[in-house]
Amino acid sequence: MENLTETTDHRHRRIILFPLPYQGHLNPMLQLANILYSKGFSITILHTNFNAPKTSNYPHFTFKSVLDNAPQDERYTNIASQGLGSFDRIFLLNQYGADELREELEILLRDGQVSCLITDALWHFTQSVADSLNLPRLVLRTSSLFCFLLYASIPLFDDRGYFELSDNRVPELEEEVVEFPMLKVKDILKMGFKSKNDTVGECISSMVKQTKASSGIIWNSIKELEEPELEMMLHDFPVPSFLIPFPKHLTASSSSLLDQDRTFFPWLDLQPPNSVLYVSFGSVIQVEEKDFLEIAHGLVDSKQAFIWVVRPGFIKGSDWLEPLPDGFVGEMGRIVKWVPQQEVLAHNAIGAFWTHSGWNSTFESVCEGVPMICSPFWGDQPLNARYISEVTKVGVCLENGWEREAIASAIKRVMMDQEIRERAKVLKQKLDVSLIKGGSTYESLDSLAAYISSFPVMHR
Ligand code: UDP
Repeated sequence: MENLTETTDHRHRRIILFPLPYQGHLNPMLQLANILYSKGFSITILHTNFNAPKTSNYPHFTFKSVLDNAPQDERYTNIASQGLGSFDRIFLLNQYGADELREELEILLRDGQVSCLITDALWHFTQSVADSLNLPRLVLRTSSLFCFLLYASIPLFDDRGYFELSDNRVPELEEEVVEFPMLKVKDILKMGFKSKNDTVGECISSMVKQTKASSGIIWNSIKELEEPELEMMLHDFPVPSFLIPFPKHLTASSSSLLDQDRTFFPWLDLQPPNSVLYVSFGSVIQVEEKDFLEIAHGLVDSKQAFIWVVRPGFIKGSDWLEPLPDGFVGEMGRIVKWVPQQEVLAHNAIGAFWTHSGWNSTFESVCEGVPMICSPFWGDQPLNARYISEVTKVGVCLENGWEREAIASAIKRVMMDQEIRERAKVLKQKLDVSLIKGGSTYESLDSLAAYISSFPVMHR
């Protein structure tokens, strides 16, 4: 990881950052905040009380809770705290948050020398608030450029009738998407939209529109991985784009919402290089009990050593591991509730990562040169999985349901595949080189700092 040297030239300039309150969004935003701090900026983080970051891990930042400070606000009391239902919060806060955010920003602008606001792209309501205060807003898009281009194409896919196709229209579902030939029509359907006008469709289309209206886009990615997509972005969205591989600068440990287990590291240290499969399906996904049991059988039948993150709540209807018979895993594997993922991926005993293909997990794996088995669920995951298996070819897709024989055979295949391992290593090396002076990451970070410094300092 790069040694972030601190410069104090801009310390009088404050950047206000506003992450979406989910693990996969908090991690990159707080990594970005630390990177910008190391470039000399002062940092204020706005956050909701729901999934608030651990402020004590960031004594160098100022924190302010916004938008859900009234505990009995009936608009939010019935929202689920786990799983997909909890995303209703995002739709509601985008709808109702503008006035309160404007008041908070006015206070911050009175207090300090603010350069700009950086929000998660999904906080689309913040663009009009920033405009009303003449405050430049940059967005952090926590997914890939490829995925963003797909999201921007949803009206096109809707007009083509993709979202009306059902499972019995198999020939059409297997067709290539003309503009994105690495994808099949069924991948578009797996994203989870019913139309461009359903709640999710409207949120995504507002996100795309307000990203286009922003002063710039920051990506947790790298030119060497997504060069054609960067060219398309610059053509279709003529605002500056900055590509920075956050995991190459810092781990996301300090923004973890769950306690991290470290007790398995002495066991991991004893395992031979590339011999252990790391398994995790991220912070939100939940599975049915029968699928969980197929996964467990597939892992044991593969006869490969493994570390498996089973979050409390991962199995629908269970607190934790109740469906698994005692002693089922034996000595070959470790099941844990949550781990410092980047540290695990960086361990030389790890041979592959079986992932749900969330973008952070995918990119952390790319940054550490670890091959992947991709089992996507919804959202951007099917797109990331296809990109990894068809474009970069540093992983394989394991899809079409959970079935122990298919799982065990995919695991054995990827753990032994030297070509995939070599490609993953070469890609990692390219990322490493990009950090050096003159490399794409180095330049992108420098131009982001210079760009922010070029904004007039806002003070009311
Ligand atoms: N993560 C972690 N410990 C774990 C599992 C996951 O710290 O045991 C982190 C992981 O490093 C990543 C994030 O949680 O930064 C998950 O984000 P991702 O985009 O992969 O998936 P999501 O949780 O948003 O579906």
